[in-house]
Amino acid sequence: MLTSPALAMNDLFPACGDSKMRGLMMDRPLLISSLLSHAANVFRDQEIVSRTVEGVIHRYRYAEAERRAKQVANALRGLGLGEGDRVGTIAWNGHRHFELYFGVSGVGGVCHTMNPRLHHRELAYIINHAKDRFLFVDTTFLPLVRAIAHRLKSVQHIVVLCDRANLPDTPLNNVLTYEELVLSHSDQLEWPEFDDRTASSLCYTSGTTGKPKGVLYSHRSTVIHSYAIALPDALDLGIATSILPVVPMFHANAWGLPYAAALTGAKLVFPGPALDGKSLTELMNGEGVTVAAGVPTVWLGLLNHWREHETKVASLERVVVGGSAPPRSMIQAFEEEFGIDFRHAWGMTEMSPLGTVNVLTPSQQGAPGGERYDLKCKQGRPVYGVELEIFDEQGRPLPHDGKTFGEVRVRGPWISSRYFRQRRSKSHDGDGWFATGDIATLDPSGMMQITDRKKDLVKSGGEWISSIELENLAAGHPDVAQAAVIGIPHEKWTERPLLVVQAKKGRSPTKDDLLAFLKGKVPDWWLPDDVIFEAELPLGGTGKVQKAKLREKYDDRYAAAR
Ligand code: AMP
Repeated sequence: MLTSPALAMNDLFPACGDSKMRGLMMDRPLLISSLLSHAANVFRDQEIVSRTVEGVIHRYRYAEAERRAKQVANALRGLGLGEGDRVGTIAWNGHRHFELYFGVSGVGGVCHTMNPRLHHRELAYIINHAKDRFLFVDTTFLPLVRAIAHRLKSVQHIVVLCDRANLPDTPLNNVLTYEELVLSHSDQLEWPEFDDRTASSLCYTSGTTGKPKGVLYSHRSTVIHSYAIALPDALDLGIATSILPVVPMFHANAWGLPYAAALTGAKLVFPGPALDGKSLTELMNGEGVTVAAGVPTVWLGLLNHWREHETKVASLERVVVGGSAPPRSMIQAFEEEFGIDFRHAWGMTEMSPLGTVNVLTPSQQGAPGGERYDLKCKQGRPVYGVELEIFDEQGRPLPHDGKTFGEVRVRGPWISSRYFRQRRSKSHDGDGWFATGDIATLDPSGMMQITDRKKDLVKSGGEWISSIELENLAAGHPDVAQAAVIGIPHEKWTERPLLVVQAKKGRSPTKDDLLAFLKGKVPDWWLPDDVIFEAELPLGGTGKVQKAKLREKYDDRYAAAR
């Protein structure tokens, strides 16, 4: 019963300075440290298993991981880590890298993961641009750090991710070992509480054009993204999941999986440097892996291994594939040959990275074979939290008819609002939207299909040709391992498509074979003018074909015709 009118007003209709009535819920910050604390408290026995650089299997549990993350945090504070300081990592997927994800951000630092396959010049640029004060590196990458050391302006401490016994000889001065650093510090720490919009991690985009650009994630964006990716129709993670992130921890935080695993209590399995089909198969079998995530190139290696050795992984229920468009033949192989659910997803570093996931509705599931695979090739529907629209060059929204294509723009709480230490960015100018540079259609059922990167579309005679569609079809030829299509400048047609093919081991398809295979599947004017065979297609640090390299090599192919 209400005792006074004043109390009634305050309790039931709290004022908040304006006429809005606020909810009466606690305003607790969404901090990354809380993910690991939760795992350590309620999933204490769930394992984190890593193949180390030395090749042995390391195994411990979430509770121990949190203790060590606290030790790292104390060690970093002891070395003078201040709020917002950047801590660089050049490392494989493994338990120490996992501890750094939490230990660094847990005390207000920013964990800056780096792609070791970048050019030396680029890597040095990124470290200097980020102003990394600390570098944590796997032994594999010590020679790399030595090669760029003279260019580094901000780094004060280099810590090698090993113990003293495994520290290689190095001419670098003042190198610390991770194990000595961790073991010499206490595991007593109350994770501090602060505003959850504080920066937590940093990742530079590969930058095929211009300088690499820094995407600066926050605690809030990371925790909300973790909830989203764990959902059943996203990556479907839970306590019964044993997840293998093959996607590197430097590629958009391994797609957020280390955080989401802690949130859900999933068992985590890290592959270290051994990413070949044989090693992955052994690790998956040994650890009962149920879900594995990576780019199509990785799965190509795995499928080849399985076929060659007539084997598979009995526990594997699902592969999550993104980063570039998987060929239809790969989706079919996983589902029909090996009975494994193929979950196709799309996103980008600027989106933490998840944007869309392809899960068919019950009625779509029942579609006849060919049609069902047409649907599975699409990149899927946006997950809740991502608003997505396609626009024409004048910035007008386009119809969702499955045919009209335009640039994809996105907005949401885990999408970058601007680049780190960069004043202007065309991608962020669009009225609160982020322009992805991807070209896509949207169909009436909400499914998006990427037709190209803006810069990869081939413009022939004023009409667009989708390089992804041609590549996808060519990769379906039984003798083709990988295919790439690039637009080559042409005097008459502006550009013409050139197909570059890597044949399967021991096979030698001809140009005529491939053109005959494509004929009838696309309009005749889409057919590539020529087919080139390469022993291996050039791959970038995240396993994608580097079309820029192919363009450099073949750009003046029609020079004579110009
Ligand atoms: P990154 O920031 O390195 O992850 O690269 C993001 C870009 O990869 C996207 O903008 C797309 O162009 C491409 N990408 C990611 N996932 C897919 C997919 N499932 N299909 C086609 N392209 C993809």
